[in-house]
Amino acid sequence: MPDNKKVFDDEYDSLKDVVEFQKNMYNPGHYIGTGRVPPTVSAPGNATPLAIAYFIMAALVLAFGLFLFFSDAQVTSGGLIKSPMANKVIALMTMVGISLFLSIMGFSYVKKAKRYYRQKAAMDREPVDQTREDKLWQRTCPKCGQFHDIDYPKCPYCQFDYWK
Ligand SMILES: [Zn+2]
Repeated sequence: MPDNKKVFDDEYDSLKDVVEFQKNMYNPGHYIGTGRVPPTVSAPGNATPLAIAYFIMAALVLAFGLFLFFSDAQVTSGGLIKSPMANKVIALMTMVGISLFLSIMGFSYVKKAKRYYRQKAAMDREPVDQTREDKLWQRTCPKCGQFHDIDYPKCPYCQFDYWK
C-alpha cells in the first residue's frame, strides 16, 4: 500500500485533471460511475496557500506555547499534576509537538506546490495541438469532399446547401 501511494503521488497530475474536466464538464456520464473524480470534488491545484496557512498556524501555536511558558499565566491540568512548572513544561511540549506536526503538514504542501509549478511550467512549454480539437467540429461536404466547420449552413467551398 505505501508503494501504491507513492506511485499515486509521483504520477498524480492535477492539471491534467483540470484539462479533462474542462473538456468533459458538459458531458454527462464522463464522471458518473467511472471512478473518475472531477477536480471540483477532489480540489487539486496550487497548494501554496495551504502551505503558508500551515506554517502560520505552526508559528501561532508555538508562540502561544512560549507565551504560556514565560508569562505569569497559570497552567492547570485539572489537578492531576500539582507543580505549576511541570504543567507549564507539559503545555509547552504539547504546543511544540502540535507546531512540529503543522510544520510537517506545511512542508508536504510545499512539496505539492513545487510539483504544481513544475507541471504548470511543463504544460506552458508544450505546444498546443489544435488540429485534433478542430476536426471534432468539422464535417465533410458530401458534394466537394472538403473539410469545413460544422456550423456553416452552406459549404464555403462549393456552396452546397445543407438545409435543402
Ligand atoms: Zn462543398
